[in-house]
This record gives sequence, C-alpha cells and structure tokens, in this order.
Amino acid sequence: MSSATPLTQPTTTPSDRLSEMLDSSARVEELSSAQEEEIQEADDDSDYETSSDSDDDGQNVHGWMASKLAPNLPFYFASPGSLVDDLETSTSVAQEKTMREVIALMTGKDQTIFDVNTHGLPHLLKNKHTAFLRTILGKYPPPFQVMDASRPWLLYWALNGLRTLGVDVSEYKQRCIDTFTPLQNPEGGFGGGHGHISHAAASYAATLSLALVGGLDMIDRRAMWHWLGQVKSPSGGFNMAVNGEQDVRGAYCCMTIHTLLRLPLTLPPASPARRAGLETFTSELGSWISKCQTFEGGLGGAPDNEAHGAYAFCVLACLCLLDSPSISIPKYLDVKRLTHWLTSRQCAPEAGFSGRTNKLVDACYSHWVGGCFSLLESALGLPKDTYLWDREALVRYTLSCSQAKKGGLRDKPSTRPDGYHTNYSLAGLSAAQYVYQYESKQEKERGEEEAMSAAFNWSYEKPSAEQRKQWCFDESDLVEAVHPVFVLPFDIVEATRMKFADKIGF
Ligand SMILES: [Zn+2]
Repeated sequence: MSSATPLTQPTTTPSDRLSEMLDSSARVEELSSAQEEEIQEADDDSDYETSSDSDDDGQNVHGWMASKLAPNLPFYFASPGSLVDDLETSTSVAQEKTMREVIALMTGKDQTIFDVNTHGLPHLLKNKHTAFLRTILGKYPPPFQVMDASRPWLLYWALNGLRTLGVDVSEYKQRCIDTFTPLQNPEGGFGGGHGHISHAAASYAATLSLALVGGLDMIDRRAMWHWLGQVKSPSGGFNMAVNGEQDVRGAYCCMTIHTLLRLPLTLPPASPARRAGLETFTSELGSWISKCQTFEGGLGGAPDNEAHGAYAFCVLACLCLLDSPSISIPKYLDVKRLTHWLTSRQCAPEAGFSGRTNKLVDACYSHWVGGCFSLLESALGLPKDTYLWDREALVRYTLSCSQAKKGGLRDKPSTRPDGYHTNYSLAGLSAAQYVYQYESKQEKERGEEEAMSAAFNWSYEKPSAEQRKQWCFDESDLVEAVHPVFVLPFDIVEATRMKFADKIGF
C-alpha cells in the first residue's frame, strides 16, 4: 500500500479474496482500538493543542496565516499523492486521517503556532520545549508507576533533550546520582527501578544520563565490565539481561557503554562467551549482526524479525562503534538493499519517516531512521553536498507538525507530546540541520589498541546561511549538534573521551 491514499473516503471494503484467506481476528491491525481511543481522547482534550478551527483568541486567523505561512511550500507536501490503494483497513483509515492533518498543518490551514520563521514555518519553540522537558524531571502522579522500570530513560530523554536545546543541565547532577545510586547493582550495571536486575537498556540510559550531568564517577567501571561480560553471548550478540532476550538493542547499548567508559576489549574470564572460546567483546559481533538484515534490506531486532527503523539505527551505530563506517557497514551488510529500504522510509506528503513498511509517519523515526543517513552516506563515501534523504522535508514535519503549541514534540498530529518523542524529534532535527563527517585518524592514540575508538572520529559542520535557507530554518531554530553514534551532544562525547583517556583498562 502506498502512503499516498486518497483524501476522499474509500468506498470499497476489503476484497472478498482477503476475507476468504483470513478471518478478521487473523488480520494485522496496526492501531489497536485502545490506541485509537487514546488518539480520540487527545483530539477531545483542549489542553493539548493539535488543530482547531479558531485560535485561542477566537480570531479568524486562517486567512492571515495562509498569506504568511508556507509561502514556498512544494506541492508534494501540500496535496495527497497520486498512487491510491482502495483496500480499506484500519491502517489505511488512520493513514488518511494523519495525512489530512499533516497537510492542514503544512499549508497553514489548521496551524496554531503563529511564531513563524523567515521560510514560513513555525519557529522551534525552544522555551516551551525546555519547560516541558523540565516537568519530566519533576514528580509524577500515581498512574506513572507503570513507568517504574523506565526511570533511567525518563532522565535520559529529558536531559538529552534539554542539552540539545542548549540548556545547561549540570544543576541536575546530584539528583541524577541520587536516582541512580540504588539502581546500580553490586554485580555491575543498572536496573530500571529499585530492586530490578541489571538491564542493557537501563544501563545505557543511566550511563548517558550520567555523562550529560558530569556524574560518571559513580559508575563502578570494573563491575560494569564484568556484567557486560555476562551478557555477551557465545553467538557473538548480546542479551538484554543475564538470561534475557538477545537482540540488536543489546549489542548497541552494551557496546556504547563499553566504548564511552573506555573499558578493556578482552572479555572477563567468567564470561560465558569467553568460556565458549570468544576472546573479546567484538568477537563474532559483526557476523551475528549481519544475520539481522531481512529480505527487504532493512534490519530486524534479531535474525528472522521484521525490518524496523529503530533496530536499523542500533545496527548501523553498533557497526560504527566497531570501525570506520566505510569498512564495517559494507563488510557485514548488503548496502544496496539497505539503501533502498532506508530511503523508502521517508513519507510523502507527510515528509517525516515511518519505522516499517506500510506504517504511518512518526517523529521518533526522525532520529531512528533520519539518524541512519549520515552513517550510511559515510559508508558509501558520497560526494560533498550529496544526501540520500530530504532534509528540508524533515525540518518541515518537525516544525509544522510535530511541535505541540504548549511545549514538547509529538509522534504525529492528534497525539500528545512526551519525553521520548521530544528527545528523538530534536535528535532527528539535529541530523537534518548538521552535516556529520567521519575522519579516520592516521595515528592511533595511546591505548586505542585496547579500547574501542572509531566512534570518536566524527565531527560536524555547522550549517551555512545557504544551507539554512535550503532546509528552511533560521539560525534561532538551530539545535545543538548531536553525535550520530552516541546520541549525545558532541561536547559531552568529547568530555567523556577525555575523562577516561588515562584510565583505559581501569
Ligand atoms: Zn514514535
């Protein structure tokens, strides 16, 4: 099914043939009824501004907006495409609704943010997003107990989002340390909540949060090395926890922690992988990852899983921890098929990215998919100013459709903003605004033979006035440069590298 479905309601029902093949319970529905109810609730909730017929003051602003907003909007962002699939499913209905809302925001018809930049797009509402992210670092009402296992993530999304907006987060250092102290287990690593066993995702988010506030000294690096050795699998991949599931999140999270903390490359003696004959944390990792590429060319979470944007980022970033992208990516992946799948993720007219084939646009993929392109482009060695994706389109989706008027960024119109989508929308915006480059160093620094170092070779170019014009944002809409592998601001990555420069191997 094309992402370009008709604006008019399809009149045909699912084909008889499909009905014969599958009964209704067996069909894949991409939006659950619960999720649809949530979206409906968001629509009805006047506290969360999405789209409306009039502004807060009751003025008729649409005529004024039409003249001011999106004066140079290309036609392919302003109208549905010409490819139509008349098979109606819950996904096609949701897709059409989303497309209508996106077009109404892109063209200014339903736009409620009137602070417009010189290109006719809403400005990035930095102050409001800052206020929104600060609330995430505050107290939570009882229903948030379901997020108990995600304490490290809540901190990382908020702190990284704030830092990406240029906000100094050092004031949160002590609170961060106080939060993570009971989550660090004596055997190494962090649990997601009090009393939880150590987990790769929680340990990743905790490590990055502590890097953001300058609190890395509280991490027991030797214990972390031992714990990482426990989750390294004899297959070459990583488990998410001891005896936990094995997928590419584990590989990316564990190798990111390992690299940032400059831990020894050799596996601890008690590691199950070491006992099975593997020598280092990187042994057999690339060949295990290569099994995760699917028939579509994208990457699944584990061998034989469906290709998915977030797993694609985990794979590419993990390979960029191992070596230069021009070496490690073509060594383990079919780059031609990967390029086809990745470039097919950018939607029209929505302009943002979807995470999977036949799925809807979603702002978190601004990072998960948008963040893949600098890694892939570097692997391909593309000429300067040659890109595989449409940066202007992602800037338009982020500024016009993803921002909530009262602060925070959201998945898509008619959904609520949250810390996760705010952080990854901003990281994706950074990927669209900056050009990241990998430069191989000729001479290795001391200790680099023993620790992972390739991912520290990235740099960035601040966008020129010409690029800002081409990609439709003002200098005041610029966010901080987010490192394409570590997903932290560049200066935080450099500070972390320097911190452990003399401590490689403890
Ligand atoms: Zn999302």
